[in-house]
Amino acid sequence: MDIEKNPYRADFPLLAGHPDIAFLDSAATAQRPAAVLDAQRRFYETMNANPLRGLYSLSVEATAAIAAVRAQVAELIGAPDARDVVFTRNTSESLNLVAKSFSPAVLKPGDEVAITVMEHHSNLIPWQQACRAAGARLVYLYPQQDGTLTDEEIAAKVGPRTKIVACAHVSNVMGCELPVRRLADAVHAHGGHLVVDAAQSVPHMPVDVAALGADFLAFSGHKALGPMGVGVLWGRHELLDAMEPMLTGGEMIDSVREQDATWAPVPEKFEAGTQDAAGIYATGAALAYLTETVGYAAVAEREAALVAYAWERLAGLGFVDLIGPADPARHHGVISFNVRGVHPHDVASILDASGVCIRAGHHCAQPLLAWLGVENLACCRASLAFYNDKSDVDRLVDGLTQVWGIFHGND
Ligand code: PMP
Repeated sequence: MDIEKNPYRADFPLLAGHPDIAFLDSAATAQRPAAVLDAQRRFYETMNANPLRGLYSLSVEATAAIAAVRAQVAELIGAPDARDVVFTRNTSESLNLVAKSFSPAVLKPGDEVAITVMEHHSNLIPWQQACRAAGARLVYLYPQQDGTLTDEEIAAKVGPRTKIVACAHVSNVMGCELPVRRLADAVHAHGGHLVVDAAQSVPHMPVDVAALGADFLAFSGHKALGPMGVGVLWGRHELLDAMEPMLTGGEMIDSVREQDATWAPVPEKFEAGTQDAAGIYATGAALAYLTETVGYAAVAEREAALVAYAWERLAGLGFVDLIGPADPARHHGVISFNVRGVHPHDVASILDASGVCIRAGHHCAQPLLAWLGVENLACCRASLAFYNDKSDVDRLVDGLTQVWGIFHGND
């Protein structure tokens, strides 16, 4: 894999227009290819109308466009029925919807919800709240320092009281894949359900709800090259069907009387109000670019080569402490680290002066950073995508050498 060449950069207007920028924050949000920006504009120029609300052809066309993306998402994640794909605003909203609308029916006092300490706050706080509301207990699974969750830990934490296991497919800090299938088998053995946060996997690898054993799966379009403001929740039909909506109003009803109302079928039941129809349409273009124009095989090959190169160079600096698995092959685009004795915010600010964009802070995973014993509950994170190249990594390494020089001289 030739990471000196970059056949993709030209497709991304922001990157093509800013050769000065080394964008290494794709785990927070991806850059968008022109195909996505064009689709967004095309929606407003050629089919703008409120989907579901009109009987005239423009509105029907908008409705059909959304239905086509729903089907596309279903195919992407191996969902048997497109009707079980709910559009939300983002992963956070999707996970909140499950925690708020599914848990009340299954959680009783004394029950347990099990999550890993590697969860993003979006797959953690909703479960704190759901447990508090039900009088249930939130139980944590702890990995080894390299992110590995052992069978012993799973057996110790997932048992007859466990009604829900919620876990990330890929950690946004450690970069590693979690043993979702083993967690599914463990919770299903006790009649519970599995919620998968696929925010960091869908942009990098094929995701199949059946293979994972997921009962619910959430992800965000904006991390997978789509516009901000579109999220997905997929759920097993009978579970979604039995759930109450989290938001009400708009087209999510069947009928409304003065004192009560009944709901439309899934997925409309969960899609109150006017949605970001142009964003959903453009998300379709994003997923097509990701899976057809580029393809997951090329994404994986390129990202693996970039991560391996970055890992070797960062490790070679001698003043960088790398976080997560020691094998770069286990990192899906994400490398977290600290520069010894330098606050991550200082690192990120100095890198920014030379156009290198990385994330610094708690990465919405404070319990994980506390558990890892990371100083100041903060670290740096460089996250790579297929549209990066070797020069982006070289610029990161040059910038870090400069950081070290500023704080420690050249001793
Ligand atoms: N889960 C994970 C693993 C994430 O990385 C993120 C985004 N950093 C989220 C959830 C939340 O995604 P969003 O901000 O799109 O709701």
